[in-house]
Amino acid sequence: MEKRHLAILGSTGSIGTQALEVVDANPDSFEIEVLTAQNNADLLIEQAAKFRPNVVVISNEKLYDKVFAALDPLDIKVYTGEKSLVSVVQMESVNMVLTALVGYAGLIPTVAAIKAGKHIALANKETLVVAGELVTELAQKHKVDILPVDSEHSAIFQCLVGEFHNPIEKIILTASGGPFRGKDREFLKTVTKAQALKHPNWSMGAKITIDSASLMNKGLEVIEAKWLFGLTPEQIEVVVHPQSIIHSMVQFEDGSMKAQMGLPDMRVPIQFAIGYPNRLKSNFPRMDFTQYPSLTFEKPDYQTFRNLSFAFEALKVGGNMACIVNAANEIAVAAFLRDEIGFLEMSDLIEDSMQEVSFVRTPTLEDYIETDKETRKIALEFV
Ligand code: NAD
Ligand code: MG
Repeated sequence: MEKRHLAILGSTGSIGTQALEVVDANPDSFEIEVLTAQNNADLLIEQAAKFRPNVVVISNEKLYDKVFAALDPLDIKVYTGEKSLVSVVQMESVNMVLTALVGYAGLIPTVAAIKAGKHIALANKETLVVAGELVTELAQKHKVDILPVDSEHSAIFQCLVGEFHNPIEKIILTASGGPFRGKDREFLKTVTKAQALKHPNWSMGAKITIDSASLMNKGLEVIEAKWLFGLTPEQIEVVVHPQSIIHSMVQFEDGSMKAQMGLPDMRVPIQFAIGYPNRLKSNFPRMDFTQYPSLTFEKPDYQTFRNLSFAFEALKVGGNMACIVNAANEIAVAAFLRDEIGFLEMSDLIEDSMQEVSFVRTPTLEDYIETDKETRKIALEFV
């Protein structure tokens, strides 16, 4: 395998730190060229001192002086400011970009990376939710791979290796169901952010943890899957599987199904994406079937967890609707984390935004940027 020269956007987060564990264990396969973070200057400095990138970006400008003082003596360049993510992904020395930052902020740097011909290891699912059609077309045009990091999409991708010429009949995306599986709306009215932040199977950043509790995460993943694998909404089924052992499945036209399974450990899909097409040796814990005597499956509760229905609706409507859902959800999650709205009100806010924001049938990149802005403004009025 050609050595991967990585830019990791969001290196101090849950995915970013686990990616650096993978890199640390495989020094012959990976080189770190760029690390970026929003606020966690201390960890960014520590990571840079260890992995010796060419450049780091600290997005919060107030922290620039601190990071510069620590890294300039090590001959590591330090950038800040809005344009810096866009410029670092285009660096000559980078050949793959791992997008491990949160939310809409991933879109513009990802587009820049694709245009510069860099392969993408995509954790930032919001990029495909906001502008999936545009981003996947751009990737085809520039002949770059978009390799999924999200565990479900990695599972599907792993099932498809060797099958790319065979049509998919449907995919089955598994969902853990989150901390509120089986609960009703009465219960959800009063749940706190502390309860919502306790995910049963995965330890992740705050935004995706809330999205998992509301099933918005599965909704975003339905949209992500459509664009990654070229599916219609009817070809995507969601099944709740509380043990998170089967990470997703593909059903082919002969009726045969493939599943990818293992312990819930994000390092596996991260490593598969940045090491593709190779399976690098790892010492991650192995699964023992006798510890999981029953794997169970149930239908998602679309009436209680309305966000999942909104995602399917956005797919059917098309245009900029998924961009609207994403921006409204980002505002909703942030407001819930500030204790300004209740858990169920997050869905109300998304629904209202879907009705209020201007619909665009065939959006350009500028339209998506505008839609994101307009939605945030309107959604904030509902808070
Ligand atoms: P996190 O909150 O733990 O980390 C986010 C990282 O991005 C941090 O380094 C932060 O400094 C940086 N960042 C945040 N906002 C930024 C902004 N506006 N501009 C620049 N940098 C910014 O998040 P995470 O859980 O690692 O998730 C990252 C992405 O991966 C998300 O899109 C998430 O949906 C996806 N994902 C995560 C997991 C998981 O297990 N954590 C699994 C599947 C997919
Ligand atoms: Mg996932």
